[in-house]
Amino acid sequence: MNPNQVLGEENPFEAMHARFDLAANKLGLDPGLYQILRTPDREMTVAVPVYMDDGTLQVFTGYRVQHSLARGPAKGGVRFDPNVTLDEVRALAAWMTWKCAVVNVPFGGGKGGVVCDPSKLSPNETEKITRRYVASLIDILGPDRDIPAPDMGTNGQVMAWIMDTYSMHARRVSTSVVTGKPIGLGGSQGRIEATGHGLQICTREALSRSGIDPAQCRAAVQGAGNVGRVTAKRLAGMGVKIVAISDIHGAIVNEDGLDIDAVETHLAQHRDLSGFASGDTTTNAELLELPVDILVPAATENVITSKNAPRVRAKMIVEGANGPVTAAADKILQQNDITVVPDILANAGGVTVSYFEWVQDRMGLFWSEDEVDTRMEKIMVQSFHDVATMSENFEVSMRIAAYMLAIDRVAEITKIRGIYA
Ligand code: NAD
Repeated sequence: MNPNQVLGEENPFEAMHARFDLAANKLGLDPGLYQILRTPDREMTVAVPVYMDDGTLQVFTGYRVQHSLARGPAKGGVRFDPNVTLDEVRALAAWMTWKCAVVNVPFGGGKGGVVCDPSKLSPNETEKITRRYVASLIDILGPDRDIPAPDMGTNGQVMAWIMDTYSMHARRVSTSVVTGKPIGLGGSQGRIEATGHGLQICTREALSRSGIDPAQCRAAVQGAGNVGRVTAKRLAGMGVKIVAISDIHGAIVNEDGLDIDAVETHLAQHRDLSGFASGDTTTNAELLELPVDILVPAATENVITSKNAPRVRAKMIVEGANGPVTAAADKILQQNDITVVPDILANAGGVTVSYFEWVQDRMGLFWSEDEVDTRMEKIMVQSFHDVATMSENFEVSMRIAAYMLAIDRVAEITKIRGIYA
C-alpha cells in the first residue's frame, strides 16, 4: 500500500484528462478535435480462458486500448499485473499517443494488459495466457495496425510468444508485429538500455539549460528495474552522485554516493536490494523526500501525490515511470519551483528504439548499437529542446508544454486526414 495515496487522485485516466484539458485550453483546441482526442479510438475486453498446470480452468480478463491511430499504427506495451484496470490501460494508451507525438515517431498510442499475477504463474501458464490473449486480439493487431511491446510483468520471451502466435495466424513470419524481442528474433541493439539512456539525455540537457554541472549534483532513484538501474548507472557515468536507490522492498542510502556497479552485481546475485552492505536502509517514501538535486521516480504510478509533494526537496524530477506524479501534485511542485521533466518526454527513449526495431524488422537490415544510440540521441535532444522552448514561450510547465506539442501534432494530422463518415 502506497502511504501517500490520496483517494480521488489515483485514477490515471482522470490524471491524463486533467493535463490534456489544461494543454488543450492553452492551445485553444477546436471543440470537435477536443472530443476526438479525449476519447480512445477502440477498446477491446477479452476473456482469456486457460487450463492451469493443476488441471483447473481459469478465466483471466485482458484489455487492449487503441487511443489514437491518427499518426500511424498503435504502439504500446502489454502489462501482466493483478491491478490492471481498463482506466489504467486507457491512460497508458493515451500517454503513448502523446509520447510518440512528442518524439515525432509515426505511431499512435495503444496499451494492453491482462489481470493476472505473473509471480504466481508458471512459464507454461504465462505462455498460454499470452497466446490466447493474442489470438483473441488477432484482428486488431499487426505491423500496420497495433504493435505491442513489453511492460510491467512481460519481457522478451512474452514478446517472442506474441510474434509466434501472430505469425501462425498470419501464415507468414511477422517479426515487426511486436517490439522488445530478443535480438535473434529481430530485436534491436540498445533497446534494453534505451529508456534509461533517454532519461540520462533529458537530465543532461535539463542541467545544461540551467547551467548546472552534473558533477555537483546528487540524485535519488526510485526503482531498480530496467529503467531505474540503467538511469542510475548512466547518471553516475556523467558524474552525478547517486545517494539512494530503491526497489519495492525499500531503499538504500549512502551520502558519499553508492557504487552503482556494486548495486548491479548485488541485484544480479540476490534479485533485490536487501542485504546490500555499503549503505543505510530507508523507505521508498523517505527516498522521495531526500534533499537531492535530481529525483528519478522510475518504479510505478502515483508515488508523488498532494500528500507528500509539499515535502519533496529535489530541485528537479525526471520521470522514468509513467504517471508517477498526480495532477494535484503537479501544482504543488510548480509552486515550489521544482522542474519536472515529464514522463511523455523523459521516458520516450524506449519507444524511440522500439520504432527503430520496427523499422529494422521491416527493412530486414539491422543497425549496430552505435548507430541506434546516435539516432536516439538526435531525437531525444531535439524533443527535449522542443518541449523546453515551448515551456518558455508559453510560460507553462514542461509537462503542459509536452502535452501541447503532442496534442498540436496529433490534432493537425487528424484535421488533415478528415473525418471519414
Ligand atoms: P521493472 O519491473 O524492471 O522495475 C520496476 C522496479 O520498481 C523494481 O525495482 C521494483 O521492485 C520497483 N517497484 C515496483 N513497485 C514498486 C512500488 N510500489 N514502490 C517502489 N518500488 C516499486 O520495470 P521497468 O521496466 O523498470 O519500468 C518501471 C516504470 O517505467 C513503469 O512505470 C513502466 O511503465 C515505465 N516505463 C518503462 C519503460 C521500459 O522501457 N521498460 C519505458 C517507459 C516507461
